[in-house]
Amino acid sequence: MKEIYLDNNATTKVDEAVFEEMRPYFCELYGNPSSMHFFGGQVQKKVDEARNRVAALLGALPEEIIFTACGTESDNAAIRSALEVFPEKRHIITTRVEHPAVLTLCRNLTKKGYRVTELNVDNAGRLDLNELRSALDDNTAIVSVMYANNETGVIFPVEEVAAIAKEKGALFHTDAVQAVGKIPLNMAASSIDMLSLSGHKLHAPKGIGVLYVRKGVPFRPFMVGGHQEKGRRAGTESTSSIIALGKACELATKFMEDENTRVKGMRDRLERELMALIPSARVNGGAADRLPNTTSIAFEFVEGEAILLLLSENGICASSGSACTSGSLEPSHVLRAMGVPFTCAHGSIRFSLSRFTTDGDIDAVIRELPPVVNRLREMSPFGREFLQSK
Ligand code: PLP
Repeated sequence: MKEIYLDNNATTKVDEAVFEEMRPYFCELYGNPSSMHFFGGQVQKKVDEARNRVAALLGALPEEIIFTACGTESDNAAIRSALEVFPEKRHIITTRVEHPAVLTLCRNLTKKGYRVTELNVDNAGRLDLNELRSALDDNTAIVSVMYANNETGVIFPVEEVAAIAKEKGALFHTDAVQAVGKIPLNMAASSIDMLSLSGHKLHAPKGIGVLYVRKGVPFRPFMVGGHQEKGRRAGTESTSSIIALGKACELATKFMEDENTRVKGMRDRLERELMALIPSARVNGGAADRLPNTTSIAFEFVEGEAILLLLSENGICASSGSACTSGSLEPSHVLRAMGVPFTCAHGSIRFSLSRFTTDGDIDAVIRELPPVVNRLREMSPFGREFLQSK
């Protein structure tokens, strides 16, 4: 069965051009870029080129780019660095809707005596900047607020957040793993101190990430050992993946316009048609500014997992916000933070598109999903009651 892949916020297909770019760096050009000989030197040149390409996508300087193993590592490195830079400051501010890469770290840090404020969001997933202002104090080492949410696509006003953080001398980090490559960023005109990205969300392979650290911002490495990455991240570089990420960033610039017109158009059509065909469906975060490729839709009185399984039988790959926690199906922490009612949060499905999504993929969901939701509603007592009341 050919897959209809609408789970691009989970991971993306490696672009063929990206794969071709990295291919020679396994069996032919396998030298270590730190080696003195010509064989390592030619790899170093390609790593430098990749760094320039990543920097160009971000509007950053090449020396502000640190290659890491993933988005999770970048997030951990940024927050831990700030705590080392300001050992006397014991307060961290983040949000209730961060990815676990930030949230789990922050919650673990409370066990080590740090105070963590998790900012709330409203029912459209938006932050209240006044809550941030009241939470900030001279003891705040770092504010870490994601650029865009992985489940709903809601975009946060990170520049405003960064400016407020600065007023109290705190560093500002943003987890931009879902934003990079989808919306334009320009670090040269930004107040962001540190930013995380992950290759596998923008058509590069898994296992490569970047931490951007603004020039002049103090940084203490999380990984220590060799002198790679100017002493900021020890460990022999994953050269093939770095080279792949460079190419992926170059392509992201080229396809940015497409993402914000054609891809967004397909996402909007999907929402419009599903809303028209399925009663009691709503877009989570629909009232907020969102990424062009993401939609999270709640179908009341159905289990998201059941929808996913039935869609999967028809080749359609999407995801639900739910995680299976200790045997009970908990609705997603993001939707709970937004106050999405339990009956809706449980039946929420995320569709995330990419430049490889076609109109035919969207047609398939519009064709297959309404009967699936109807069938599941007929099978549940609440669903039946709802259908009979219509
Ligand atoms: N942050 C966000 C917002 C994400 O969506 C993800 C991955 O889903 C991560 C961090 C973690 O990135 P990685 O899988 O590269 O560790």
